[in-house]
Amino acid sequence: MERRLTANYHTHTKYCRHASGEIVDYIETAIGQGYSVLGFSDHSPYLFRDGYRSFFRMYPEQQEEYVTEVLRCREKYKGQIEIPLGYEMEYYPRHFEETLKLIRRFPCDYLVLGQHFLGNEYDGDYSGDRGGEVKLMQYVDQIREGLDTGVYSCLAHPELINFDGPREVYEEHMSRLILKAIETETPLEINLRGQKYGNRYPDERFIALAARMGAKFVIGVDAHEPSDLEHGREYGEAFAYAEKYSLDLLDRLPLKTVSL
Ligand SMILES: [Zn+2]
Ligand SMILES: [Zn+2]
Repeated sequence: MERRLTANYHTHTKYCRHASGEIVDYIETAIGQGYSVLGFSDHSPYLFRDGYRSFFRMYPEQQEEYVTEVLRCREKYKGQIEIPLGYEMEYYPRHFEETLKLIRRFPCDYLVLGQHFLGNEYDGDYSGDRGGEVKLMQYVDQIREGLDTGVYSCLAHPELINFDGPREVYEEHMSRLILKAIETETPLEINLRGQKYGNRYPDERFIALAARMGAKFVIGVDAHEPSDLEHGREYGEAFAYAEKYSLDLLDRLPLKTVSL
C-alpha cells in the first residue's frame, strides 16, 4: 500500500514574502490530502540591529498578525486537523537570545532549525553556496551550538551546505552534526521541497551516514505554496529512502517547549 504523509510541520505562509497562498488554502489542501497535523513554521522574525532588514522572513511587526491568523484557523478547523504553531528560525548567535524573547511574547509550540546563512545572516555566507572545508566546519559548529540551546524540535534540510569535496571530509564533519542531533533528540528532516526541485538535498551521502549512526528522521514538505502539500512523486521517493536505509522515521514530531 502506498505510504502517505499524515503530518507535516514545515509550512510557510505569505508573511515571509516568498511563499504564496492564504493560510486557509494550505489547511484546506492538507485536509483534502488526508493530513491530520499541519504545523506552520514560517521564517521567523529576527531582531537584527542597525536597521538591517532580511529579505526572506516576516518582519517583527508582522508576528502578531501571523500568530493571530494561525490560532484563528486552529479554532476554525478544530476536530478536522491539528494546527501547531511554530517558526523556522536560524541560530544567529549575536541576536538569538533577544529574538527568542520576541518569539515568546506570543504562543509558540515549536521551532525548526533551518540554518540558511552562517554567522548572523548579514555578515555570513548563504549556506547553500559552494564552499570548502572551512565553511563546512563553520556550518556544523553553528548548528551544534544551535541544537545545544534545546529549543529546536527538528533540523530542517540538514544537508543544505554545499560541499563537494572528498566524501571522508564530508562525513567527518557531518557526523559531528548528526551526533549532536542524536544527543539532543532532534530528528533530521528529509526535505520534500529539495526533492521536488532537484536540489542537492536530500543527499543520499548524508542519509546513509545518519542512518548508520542511528539518527531519527521526519519528512518535511517545506511548503511554499498550497499545492506542495499534494502527494507527488517526491513523497514516494522520500518513503523509498526510508525503506532503502531502514530509517527510524517518525510520523509525529515530538515538540520541545519554547514558551517559558
Ligand atoms: Zn522559504
Ligand atoms: Zn522552510
